[in-house]
Order: sequence, then C-alpha cells, then structure tokens
Amino acid sequence: MTDPRRNLPGVDVLLASGAFQGILEAYPRGRVVEAARDTLVLARGEIATRGEAAVPSDEAEWARRVEDLLSVRDLPSLRGVINATGVVLHTNLGRAPLSEAARAAMAGAGWGYSNLEFDLDRGERGSRYVHCVDLLKELTGAQDALVVNNNAAAVVLGLNSMATGREVLVSRGELVEIGGGFRIPDMLSRSGAVLKEVGTTNRTRVEDYRGAAETGDVGAILKVHRSNFRISGFTEEVQISDLATLAQELGLFLFHDLGSGLLADPERLGLPREPRAIESLKAGATAVAISGDKLLGGPQAGIILGDPEVVGAMRKNPLCRAFRVDKVTLAGLEATLKHYLDPEEALREIPTLRMLAAPLGVLEERAHRLSRELHRSFPGNRVAEGIGVVGGGTCPGVDLPTWTVRIKPSGSSPRALAMELRSLPRPVVIRVEDEEVVIDLRTVDPDEDPALASALSEAVDAGD
Ligand SMILES: *Cc1c(COP(=O)(O)O)cnc(C)c1O
Repeated sequence: MTDPRRNLPGVDVLLASGAFQGILEAYPRGRVVEAARDTLVLARGEIATRGEAAVPSDEAEWARRVEDLLSVRDLPSLRGVINATGVVLHTNLGRAPLSEAARAAMAGAGWGYSNLEFDLDRGERGSRYVHCVDLLKELTGAQDALVVNNNAAAVVLGLNSMATGREVLVSRGELVEIGGGFRIPDMLSRSGAVLKEVGTTNRTRVEDYRGAAETGDVGAILKVHRSNFRISGFTEEVQISDLATLAQELGLFLFHDLGSGLLADPERLGLPREPRAIESLKAGATAVAISGDKLLGGPQAGIILGDPEVVGAMRKNPLCRAFRVDKVTLAGLEATLKHYLDPEEALREIPTLRMLAAPLGVLEERAHRLSRELHRSFPGNRVAEGIGVVGGGTCPGVDLPTWTVRIKPSGSSPRALAMELRSLPRPVVIRVEDEEVVIDLRTVDPDEDPALASALSEAVDAGD
C-alpha cells in the first residue's frame, strides 16, 4: 500500500481548483499560499497518527480547512471575552467595562480630529489637561485635578513633584505590592524620593510619624490604601485627618494613594465603607491619587486631585509628558464622570456599579433560565448560590453573594471544558471549583446571556 502522504495535492493544484477561488478573492494570495502550506503540514502530521482517514476527501474539504485556518489567524490579538468568573474588576480581563455613553464618546474621539489641545474660543494652542477638570472638581470637592495614564503614574508623578531628593514617611504596614509589579518602595525610589519607614507592620501611631520627621530632610507623608489585602488582630493605623494635622504643623505634603476611585455611595453597592477621595480631601490631604478603571468604572487612567499649587507643579513636571493621557481615554472618562452628576444614572449606566448592585433575585432568575437552556447539552447542570469578589485590587475580604450555574461535564474534565470555552471566537472565561465549571452571571451583561448559552452548547458539541 502506498503511503497516503505521497498522494497529497500540491499547493499550486489546490489554488488552481474551483474550490479555492472564493478564498483567493477574500484573502491576499500570499496568505492563502501560506495557509495552504500549513494545512498540508498539519494533514501530514494527522495522517501519521490516524492514517488514510485523515486525508480530505476532495478540494472543497481542503478549501474548508484552509479557510478555517485563515479565519483563526484573522482574529485580533486583543478581543472581547465573556467574563463569567464573578470577579467584577478582573485586571486580567481589562478591569472596568464601559458605559454605552463612554464607548460612544471614545469612538467619537477616535473618529476624527478634536480640540484635545486647542482652545476653541481663542483659536490657539490649548491644554489637554483642561478636560475633565471641572467635572472632577464638582464631584470630589477638589480644588484642582490632573488626569494621567494610570494611578501608578499618578503616584510617581506626585512623589517626584512633592519630594524628589527628600524623604517621604510611609508606615511599614503600607509598604505594599498592589499587583502587577506595583511596589510602593520601588515606585518611591524611582520617583527620586527617599523612603523613610515609620512604625511597624501591624501598628503605626502619630508619634511614629512625628519622631521620624524630627531628623533628616522630610518633604512628605505618603499614605497608601491597603486596597488588596487586609490586616486584622492587634493593629493600629493613623487616620488621614490626624496625619493632615501633623503635616500642617510640620509643613509637610500629605499624599494619599487611594487606588480604588469609588465615587458612588458604597452602601448603595452593598459594599462596606471604603475610603473615598472626597473624604480624604475634606480631611486635609494635599493630594489624592485614584484609578479611573477600578470602582470609578471608567477607562484606564490615573487621577490626581488636590491643592492647585501642588497639582499645578505636577502639570508642569516633565514627567507629566511621559505619563500623559490619550484623547480617547479623556473622552471616555468625561462621559463616565458625567453619569455621576445624577447618582441614580451612575448606578444605572456604569456597568461596574450595575454589576455590584445587581439584585440577588435577578441573578437567581437568570441562573435558572441559563440552567434550563443548558438542559440538553449538560443534563446534570445545577443552580447554586456562590461567592464572587469585587477584584481589581479593591475591597479585599468582601464577598459578593451570587447565583451560579454549575456543570460537571460527563465526557471530559472541567479543565478541558474551560479550555474549550476559551478557544471560542468570543471566548468565555469561567471558574473551576470542586471539579465543576462555575458560571457566575453577575459579571455577564444580561444582553449576553443568549450568547453565553449558545457558547456553552457549542463547546460541549466541539468536545464530543
Ligand atoms: C490599583 C492601585 C494602584 C495602581 O493603579 P493603576 O491604575 O493600576 O496603575 C496604586 N495604588 C493603589 C492603592 C491601588 O489600589
């Protein structure tokens, strides 16, 4: 018997066949040649394991394989996924999904030219740093505001502007890593400031700060919100208002790295008290730094709020140019901030807030509907209560009670099903818990429920 690998068609023969003409109209010839070559290589490998059965029966079958390969290669590297993990601010999945108005504003800013740095009244050069400032002032009571690329940049810019070459007091309990390599001691030294540790890991008192400020050239106090972990037991930390009194007395800047950027009322979201910029500023912080894409629910950005003289110095700092924010981001941030002018609108329109505030009854109902729709593909699926988290390095230790659909796949393992779901054109990301696939609907937009149901059915068919 001859080796079937010897009888495989050549690339030229395939491309000349009628079955390939449509593909050649849709894709550049060079890419089709490459894909056809790779398809032949794949077929050779398959024949080695499965024999004759792996040989396509005709040219149409070859064309289908080549087209499948081309369409996989056409998928963008960065693409939308369905987040069924129940982690609302999933850093790996792009943190905050954006409101409809924010998405429209961003598309608009990208579509053409804008007055990004152009003063329309005077017809001359303007500043990109005027955008969003009035809204931020109104919403937080800050006297001035500056938007940069992210909160990490805001912290470096703030420290560099307030304390380069000088010492900065930080509690030992706040020398933290916020994830993604953001370590306070490293950021501080890169900013040109000198770290002076104060107190102990679990307890720091005002007197510790005062004592440390008595020697050396101290320029500022940095307070860091422990946004992604909690310490409990025998602990003590100094409130921002007490630090403000001390900073005032000693003539130091007080910089509060808050991170989360919560503007809404935490009670309405079912969250425990979370420090907010408005309170830090009222308590007397010189400047506060927050993220745009955590609990604020907007695009990735860093926002500095505070004293006009200090914020003005940051705006003039050459580093600000390196950290500058993009027009598309500014457009999305402005539209997001506008929602907050009406707190009810913010809860309704900003997906992060809407997901956090989603009533349990609604989640339960959606879980039951999905469970029924999956009855055929996964007969053993069940609806169960579950626990989600806020995520994104915010609200550590806060559980979000939720409703889930749980699947124990019969033919394969939960991990194999999870992989199958990730390989769909619109990938679905889920949790695996106790050998079950867990689907948490809190983080799925209700409009996507039908897409989620068909993705799951598709995955089980592909896995068979
Ligand atoms: C998240 C966070 C940061 C980093 O913010 P990015 O916007 O991700 O750069 C810094 N500090 C605190 C306290 C944070 O919570």
